[in-house]
Amino acid sequence: MIGIIGAMDLEIVRLKEQMTDKKEEQLSGVHFTKGKLFGKDAVLAVCGIGKTFAALCAQTLILRYNPEIVINVGVAGTLCDRLSIGDMAIGTAAVCHDMDTSPLGDPVGLISGLDMVEIPLNAQMRETFEECCEEEGIHYVSGVIASGDQFIDDGSKKQWIRDTFCAIACEMEGQAIAQVCYVNRKPCAILRSISDSANGTAADYMQFKELAAEHSSRVLARFLKIE
Ligand code: SAH
Repeated sequence: MIGIIGAMDLEIVRLKEQMTDKKEEQLSGVHFTKGKLFGKDAVLAVCGIGKTFAALCAQTLILRYNPEIVINVGVAGTLCDRLSIGDMAIGTAAVCHDMDTSPLGDPVGLISGLDMVEIPLNAQMRETFEECCEEEGIHYVSGVIASGDQFIDDGSKKQWIRDTFCAIACEMEGQAIAQVCYVNRKPCAILRSISDSANGTAADYMQFKELAAEHSSRVLARFLKIE
């Protein structure tokens, strides 16, 4: 079973259209669709916006469906010059940019209890996603993905996240999903396409979120066909 989580309907709707033998289920307020995607058993979930909903969804998905792998797919803001609208950011690790116990002497972003800042993501899936991007002719960069409960749209905040965590893209769910998977020992991947520049151009997001969601769905579909 492959678990696939998008924050918003638009991030998984294209995959859902291609799913057969669909069975819908509502659990913990999350809508799950189980079925076959390109011949493989898969479950799609729309978790909602932000880290709390994302964690709730990931844990419920793991307990209910016991997937072998979990993939977070969707859109993100860019933090680096090498990633433009429609390009893919593939996660090597995930950080939480709004976790901060530094007044106590901890590094910014430390996940107390796990005692790490970067939650590692599955390297094998990352490499396969990189190959899929190449085959689809979509430019990609692999690196750290930063999550937090904020839509980043400010140059100084963007720069702070990039400089503090060496992160390439920002979004609002990936790290929470990665943290839940890490605790549950489930391999996790984050695949995000760039919808906006995270710098005073929120209008970009409204204009390009569909294009970005289409790109990330296309790369994931290719992955599912070969994996
Ligand atoms: N009320 C809106 C909120 C969307 S938030 C709604 O329900 O549609 C934006 C979503 O896109 C989040 O899921 C986040 O993961 C991603 N995202 C895209 N660009 C982002 C940015 N610049 N900063 C943070 N998250 C971003």
